[in-house]
Amino acid sequence: MDANKLQSLRHSTAHLLAAAVLHLYPKTKLTIGPAIENGFYYDAAFEKPISEDDLPQIENEMKKVLKTWKGFTKREVTEKEAKEIYKNNEYKKELIDEIVKRGEKITLYKIGDFEDLCRGGHSENPQKDIGDFKLLSIAGAYWHGDEKNPMLTRIYGTAFPTKKELDEYLEMLQEAKQRDHKKLGKELDLFVFSETVGKGLPLWTPKGSAVRRVLERFIVDEEIKRGYLHVYTPDLASLALYEKSGHYPYYKESMYAPITIDDEQFMLRPMSCPHHFELYLSRPHSYKELPIRFAELAKMYRYEQSGELAGLQRVRAFTLADAHIIAKVDQAEGEINKVLDLIEFIAQTFGLEHGKEYHYRLSLGERAEEKKYYKDDKSWDKAEAVLRKVLKNRKSHFVEAPGEAAFYGPKIDVQMKNVNGKEDTAFTVQYDFVMPKRFNLTYINEKGEEEQPIVIHRSSIGAIERVMAFLIEHYAGAFPLWLAPVQIVLLPIADRHAEFAQEAAKELRNAGIRVDADIRSERLQAKIRDATLQKVPFMGIIGDKEIAEKAISVRKRNGEDLGQLKIAPFLEQLLQDIDKKI
Ligand SMILES: [Zn+2]
Ligand SMILES: [Zn+2]
Repeated sequence: MDANKLQSLRHSTAHLLAAAVLHLYPKTKLTIGPAIENGFYYDAAFEKPISEDDLPQIENEMKKVLKTWKGFTKREVTEKEAKEIYKNNEYKKELIDEIVKRGEKITLYKIGDFEDLCRGGHSENPQKDIGDFKLLSIAGAYWHGDEKNPMLTRIYGTAFPTKKELDEYLEMLQEAKQRDHKKLGKELDLFVFSETVGKGLPLWTPKGSAVRRVLERFIVDEEIKRGYLHVYTPDLASLALYEKSGHYPYYKESMYAPITIDDEQFMLRPMSCPHHFELYLSRPHSYKELPIRFAELAKMYRYEQSGELAGLQRVRAFTLADAHIIAKVDQAEGEINKVLDLIEFIAQTFGLEHGKEYHYRLSLGERAEEKKYYKDDKSWDKAEAVLRKVLKNRKSHFVEAPGEAAFYGPKIDVQMKNVNGKEDTAFTVQYDFVMPKRFNLTYINEKGEEEQPIVIHRSSIGAIERVMAFLIEHYAGAFPLWLAPVQIVLLPIADRHAEFAQEAAKELRNAGIRVDADIRSERLQAKIRDATLQKVPFMGIIGDKEIAEKAISVRKRNGEDLGQLKIAPFLEQLLQDIDKKI
């Protein structure tokens, strides 16, 4: 089924939901019910709150109603008529005002005994097209998404042309729930939130921090190997810097309010570009130095609505693996190629396949929109051609997205698919010909003249928080050995074996292994179960025999038994595997 038809089917099912709700709760005030990416929802003001326990009953009613449905009929009404129909529904009246303001016609669609204010887009034969549907959840949603408005009840559901497709989707949802990084983050003790610290501000536990540290070291080391110059610049900067870059006031909505220090205003930075440009400007540069690749694990602060915050996926303070490559125009192609090499290398290390877990999108400028795009057709043409050429030469599959570029130039978006099948721009590689002008970045060319470089803004992996959320779900919490917060846990069988376990742990820790010794006076089976639940890659069991042999009996988290191994050679093997990022 094509996307439009599927959307009409789901939109029609939203009508079905509304009809059933009115049958069961006649005093409900309906508002809007659109189709969304994986289904539909309807927002309504219920007289009394309902819960997810009520969903099966609503579903049953929907099934009954569907049997009576033939097809949608449409009528057009005047503003006065529409307001009379919805005289008791202030939400619909507001919608009518909005329709009138936009100069559109007011249309009502009727099917069975239910009529709704709607602009159309339904299945021609809902009874035939709606193969199967399911109501999934209930959430609170502010009217028009504004916290100052009343809170409505949103019922989410989905519908498919066949029962088989619905079942497959529900199974995927179930699997995704198991892998949900918020759930696993709690169970595996990786990060927490504190009401007192604030929303969208994660606290990383020692275990989560261990994973993060490994991840960050890996990225920094790899970038340094590839010629990046890693730097540190402050999270805070004078408001004047963002006025110079143009982020203020244009990007104001995403920034936090200025902080006044000694009569001067400062901003928590939403991006690090201007800091890196100022670093570049601290002394003159020759063409021989270019490209200069400034990289930083840069802390940033961007405003996100509280309703948008989601675990580590959407936060209000995050760390971007950021870099700015300042290059001569003729170096751009080679540099972008190298950036994509790096991105693909890192992705490969995590077992992510290009074309499967992620793909490229070439975002182009819609030049006619002069407010959104910097006016310089020649530079746009050149930049877009370079990016397209790089992708074509690499034989990378990509889609083009007109109108998705940044203000200052086109970009390659790295689109990631999460376990829910939802696709998102994870990070980007941008070609910028505007900021060098604005900051007056220059270098001295071969002829001794000043020339303007271009800037490539890029990330190698995106925001650390987001990557962590992604990796937790990707591995379902079972991190590979090199990333695991605890790589091996030693399990003494009885209390008398605890001392040896602690000594062995010390030896492994000294060699750089992340090791725990579980010296609780629990039964071995209980200790094995706990370590398995914590998804620790290796368990080392220690009893009398092992102590006599200076060995441990090694078990993998999948239950595989490696038998009794001497500590020294086992350690050697572990270190080799970690080095290979297994
Ligand atoms: Zn409709
Ligand atoms: Zn930047």
